[in-house]
Amino acid sequence: MVSRYLGSDLARLWVDENFSEQDRSRSDAIGTAMVAATRSWLERAEWLDAETRALSLNKIDGFTLKLGAPEHYRPVPEGIVSDDLYRSVRGLMLASRAEEFDGIGTPLPSQYWYGVQPYTVDAANSPDRRALTITAAVIRGALESNDPAAWFASAFVVGHEIGHSFDDQGSKFDPDGILQPWWSEETRERYDAEVAKLKRQIAAWEPSPGVSMDPEQTIGEAIGDLIGLKLAEHALDTYLAEHPERAGPDASGFTAKQRFFLAYAQSFRTVWSPGALEEHIARSYHPPGEFRVNGIVRNLDGWYEAFDIEPNDPMYLPVEERVAL
Ligand SMILES: [Zn+2]
Repeated sequence: MVSRYLGSDLARLWVDENFSEQDRSRSDAIGTAMVAATRSWLERAEWLDAETRALSLNKIDGFTLKLGAPEHYRPVPEGIVSDDLYRSVRGLMLASRAEEFDGIGTPLPSQYWYGVQPYTVDAANSPDRRALTITAAVIRGALESNDPAAWFASAFVVGHEIGHSFDDQGSKFDPDGILQPWWSEETRERYDAEVAKLKRQIAAWEPSPGVSMDPEQTIGEAIGDLIGLKLAEHALDTYLAEHPERAGPDASGFTAKQRFFLAYAQSFRTVWSPGALEEHIARSYHPPGEFRVNGIVRNLDGWYEAFDIEPNDPMYLPVEERVAL
């Protein structure tokens, strides 16, 4: 309730104490690197025809990326909050509803955050608003580390949300955020053929003995993971090309690229209580963490290079079966 109606005020207090100017500049740098990686990905994508490629680049240019914490806070109406809890909550609810009604027919102010606050571990893609929001709490790992591998492993979440703009549903929203066809038929066919490969992979996953997953239920999140990891990897590669001295092993003995994939894997560590995994598989759009890692990395050529994976290794996937999105 506090987050819902006084989230802006709470965010302002939290940001003052927990999100320094240095945090903001690093978070801005990560955002810039990820948008550049996305443009580069679209420019190289073999499944896009020239016209759809140009429109897709427009779609990226039309995004508002809200990363870290807001710079502007929605004003909380004054004179409503008092010592009387009931009157305060009622007043805030009425003010919020009035704001929504007043806003009908006018564009949403793009500088404010909606529904997500910087202090919660949360990320959202609103295709109709053309806004991506990823909170400071999500990229904490990037803000607290001096290792570029950790920065870009955290930036995966930014890539995942960008990926939703090109998943099986998000790709149906055009560059103006309108739900209408805008891809050429040949692009949609080539895209569907790659998505079909990923669905076949998901159908073969068995998270719990005898329990398989419904590819239709999880394909959107799996596409988000695949595109997100590719974008983050590309952003890291770009950084390492400019800072080759940081590419080699650190004190851990792992190269930057290896540390990147290890950090990605560590971010999905999960322990399931009995029955919880089966319930998750039945209800969630997200594959269990183990599969968000092992099921996805084997589609990335860079992962094979990083760990010298050979055809007889258990996670090896023939090149033609890797999803080339
Ligand atoms: Zn997602």
